[in-house]
Parts: sequence; structure tokens; C-alpha cells
Amino acid sequence: MTDYFVLDEAELRPRYDDYKVLCHAEERFHKVVMFNLLRFHATALQRFDRRQAGEALEDCNLWNEFSNPKSKKKPKTVATAATGEPAPTVKAKRKRGKAKPVISDIKGAFRSYIEKTQKNRCCYCRRWLCNSGYSKPIEHILPRKTYEQYSFHFWNLSVACVDCNSLKKEADWATPDKHGFKAYPLPSNFTEMFHPRFHRFDEHVRFIRVQTNDHSITLYRGITPQGQKLCEDLLTIIAGKEVIVNANAALKSSMETIERFDVKEGSHLESALKSLVGALSERSIDLLNR
Ligand SMILES: [Zn+2]
Repeated sequence: MTDYFVLDEAELRPRYDDYKVLCHAEERFHKVVMFNLLRFHATALQRFDRRQAGEALEDCNLWNEFSNPKSKKKPKTVATAATGEPAPTVKAKRKRGKAKPVISDIKGAFRSYIEKTQKNRCCYCRRWLCNSGYSKPIEHILPRKTYEQYSFHFWNLSVACVDCNSLKKEADWATPDKHGFKAYPLPSNFTEMFHPRFHRFDEHVRFIRVQTNDHSITLYRGITPQGQKLCEDLLTIIAGKEVIVNANAALKSSMETIERFDVKEGSHLESALKSLVGALSERSIDLLNR
């Protein structure tokens, strides 16, 4: 028995069922959203089974395939025989509500759902998430490099800020006893690390933020072993990076300009912005480590 909240195992299924009816703002798309998510999940599980059976598989980044599906060639605009008018484009069809959602819509809808459950704050540092999709990446709590089988697992995904996501990268905070299983570990098994979908942040970490006109400083303190580990692995560095950025007027102004960009989900610009913000974040952290 712990003195902090842990999501009850019996709650997993009902909550997932709730998600199925909230997986897209438009009810008519629910089936296609779930079909696509389950299709990717099934592929991840099949790859796990094949690896377990000793098969040497080529590396394949399923999440990238999901995030940046190969664009199909734009069909040429042709005149319809009956009217001589140009045939409706995909965009026009979607406007009329006939087309299915594309993968980027599915990912965006998933992000919106999780964001709401996190009250629009980063799952780790609890800072506000910016409005642009690129600046709030979907975070794999157990990293997909080590746990490919959970790449699309409902309980393994949360939403982080770019700083937390790019700093954590593929770090595996779980103990090795969680390796090599097909089923996702139960909430009660996460005693060594903070799990943003199973735990409540406030019961593990306390923070204080001091903000003036020009600066903001955040101090984090872990109050459980999981909270202390999160501070050690991530939050202390996030707080230090914030100080560095705030102390550099040019860097601060550039970061604010970048954050104001709103780009289309799945577009090339989105991925370029992600790389740029990730690189800036890494450089600031390098400075901190010197
Ligand atoms: Zn964060």
C-alpha cells in the first residue's frame, strides 16, 4: 500500500473505452482513427514477437512512419465528363465532409485528448504547453528504442514540452525487470520512476516558480523516490536551462519568436522547427554542463 495515488488496474479498461468515444472530435471518424492506431500497434507487437522468436529484423522507425506518412502524389485536376468542371480536390472533399482524416489528424486528435487530461501542461515539468503542435511532442514514457512493442500503447504515451522531450530522448528510467514483455507493466509496478499517466505529479514533486519582468526561475523538489529521480534525471536540468535562456536576451527573444510559429501537423516545416528547437535546447544544456 502506497501513500500516493496509483491508477487502479481495474480502471485501465474503462478509461481506454472512454478514449474510444473521444478519439476524434467528429464521431464519424472514430472507427477510422481506432483502426489506424490499432494497425500500427499490431505491427509493433508483431515485430516484438518476431524478435523474441530470434528473427533479426531490420531497424524500422514505426513512429516516424506514423508521424510523417509518405505523401501520395497529388492527382492531376481533370475535368469531369458530365459537367466540364474540374474534379473536386481532396481539400474540397474534406471541406464537404466526405474524406477520411489523414494520419496527422489522428495524431493531433490523440495529442488533444492527452493534453486535456494533463490540463495543458507538460507531463514532466508542468510548464504550460505552447499552442503549436510541433512544440508539444508526444512522449514515449518507456522509450520506443528499448520498448518498440509499446510505441503505440495507449498508456505509454503522454505530451511533453520540447525541452523535456529532447532532453529525455531515449533514456530508460525503468528498471531492467520491465524489459522483454509484450504486455504493458501494471501501474503498481512503477515504483522506481514517475509515470505521468499512472501517478499524480503533485504527490511526487513540489515546485516553486519566481517570475519577474525579465526572468523566471523554477525550483523543483522531489518528495518521493520517484519524484527525486525525476528531479535528478530531468527537472534540475530543465530549471538550469531556463535560467540560461532567460539570462541571454537574444536567445530568449529567438525562442519566443519560434514559439509563435504555428505550422501544419506532419508538414516539413513542423519537422524543421522541431529539429531547430531541439538543437537550441541541446546547446543550452551543453552550456549548463560546462
Ligand atoms: Zn517539460
